[in-house]
Amino acid sequence: MIKPKLLQQFVVEPGSAVNLKHFVTDWTATDEAQELGKEVIKERAAEILAENREHLDAAQELLYASDTHSVLLIFQAMDAAGKDGTIRHVMSGVNPQGCQVFSFKKPSAEELDHNFLWRYMKSLPERGRIGIFNRSYYEDVLVVKVHPEWLGPGQPANPDDKFWQKRYEDINNFEKHLARNGTLVLKFFLHLSKDEQKRRFLERLNNPDKHWKFSEADLAEREHWKDYQKAFEQALSATSTKRAPWHVIPADRKFVARALVADIVVNAIQKLDLKFPKVSADKRVMLEAARARLEKKDPDENGEPPPA
Ligand code: AMP
Ligand code: MG
Repeated sequence: MIKPKLLQQFVVEPGSAVNLKHFVTDWTATDEAQELGKEVIKERAAEILAENREHLDAAQELLYASDTHSVLLIFQAMDAAGKDGTIRHVMSGVNPQGCQVFSFKKPSAEELDHNFLWRYMKSLPERGRIGIFNRSYYEDVLVVKVHPEWLGPGQPANPDDKFWQKRYEDINNFEKHLARNGTLVLKFFLHLSKDEQKRRFLERLNNPDKHWKFSEADLAEREHWKDYQKAFEQALSATSTKRAPWHVIPADRKFVARALVADIVVNAIQKLDLKFPKVSADKRVMLEAARARLEKKDPDENGEPPPA
């Protein structure tokens, strides 16, 4: 496990004004990390991820057994920041029946005809499950803040600050509602540098097996880099709360991002202090009777009792 003190630097303090320049994108370049050396960190990160995969599987089983909570993990980031890979690696040890992933793309006409939270509400995890949103209702204060023309019918052409404040408020109230109803919400912004995004895009272009991943639209969005960073800063400032905190995860090194996310998730679930349900006295009597019946020799195929 990573020391809680170290993890604290990645949490957005509720009520603080976020300046993304104050959050690192490459943690291996920090003084703290340089002392350890990159190879040691890489090895340690792999160990932490492996340990946490096991912890997460156990935590999910307990989540299901105790039947009081669900967990919602939200991932947001610029393109190529590694959302898909992080989700794949962190969740790879969890029972597939215990988790679900939803990826949200451009909304359909039907979705745009509803309130902006509608499509996400339908995909919330039930009690006992870990739900993952690969993009989320945060797109509704991010991509559409950069491109208000994509807000859809019935929305203002030039939304003002008040419009966005109301959306942040709706999101905070929605997350309060989720928390009150037993959903633990954890939010991750995978913080990628512009240089690293360029390197990853070029890697996709240089590798025919990765061409399918490249979209011209990603390049167009890259040109709005500054606007996106600003929209992220505003959204993170307005919506990081104690009950649903934002984490700014340094994403330039995939192994760092994966180890951090896994550790934060495991820590937060363990903090819920869930317990396996207590078995009642009546049920204990029934269990003992069942054991006695099973331990008796079975009758043969003709229903004859076994010879004494
Ligand atoms: P990808 O995850 O790369 O397949 O891309 C999905 C695309 O859908 C991204 O460009 C998102 O910005 C876009 N998208 C997701 N949610 C919304 C939304 N609520 N409004 C507009 N675009 C969205
Ligand atoms: Mg994309």
